[in-house]
Amino acid sequence: RVGLVVSAVTGVTNHLLSSVSEVLSGKPSQEFVDEFCRVHTAILKDLEPNIDQKLLEKAEEEIVTVAKEFDNLLTGVGLLMECSPSILDHISSIGERASTPIIEAILEGNGLTVRRIDPRDYIITDNVFGNASPLMPEIEKRMSPLRDETWDVLLMPGFFGSTLSGKTTTLGRGGSDYSAAILAAAFQASTLEIWTDVAGVFSADPKVASEAFVLDEMSYPEAMELAFFGAKVLHPRTIAPVVTLKIPTLIKNTFNPDLPGTL
Ligand code: ASP
Ligand code: MG
Repeated sequence: RVGLVVSAVTGVTNHLLSSVSEVLSGKPSQEFVDEFCRVHTAILKDLEPNIDQKLLEKAEEEIVTVAKEFDNLLTGVGLLMECSPSILDHISSIGERASTPIIEAILEGNGLTVRRIDPRDYIITDNVFGNASPLMPEIEKRMSPLRDETWDVLLMPGFFGSTLSGKTTTLGRGGSDYSAAILAAAFQASTLEIWTDVAGVFSADPKVASEAFVLDEMSYPEAMELAFFGAKVLHPRTIAPVVTLKIPTLIKNTFNPDLPGTL
């Protein structure tokens, strides 16, 4: 069985954050909501030939609901001319909440039994909005009953969770990898795979050093050190949850899945 953690569609989290700043500087919210809808509807349209229409309609309904929520929140920010860190986290989480139903439609369209979870019920964190840390014992306690349920894929939007009192928090930019590591640790998974847009972890920044090559393998301390010094392929705190459990972590390229990646 597989746990699958989904990130937002490319550019959407940036779009959500810049919408907030634009609305705070007096722009009307409508165009930002329209753009949000357009991006997701275009993907559903692309899937039309391959995925059952009913499943796509279900995804679209949910995206419309999430877009309405985005609209209401942005309108509120515009009226109050203020956006607290907790409201900003709530708005930031909307990208993952819209991408997940699309992935769910694809999985179900391929005959898989999907158990979707809302991270606000499972990924419990401290209240450091924008850069929250997981409360692992609480997360493990909440996730434990999922083991006994029937599913092929446990599907969860990444990047966000919730405080104990139910306020949405985010785990820092690029935090979906972190969510995946938390899920892997909670389930003591056999492997954590991070599917990204590069061939793996390079020996140096390929934009700076042309002789940089993809590393087949590296140790956890080396990975943490690289992240600490700014390698963008891994979220700095991402792999911490899997390190103590020694869960092998594989970085793979979505656009070239045959490449071995970095272990
Ligand atoms: N969507 C979030 C971000 O852009 C999380 C992620 O991509 O992992 O930071
Ligand atoms: Mg991302």
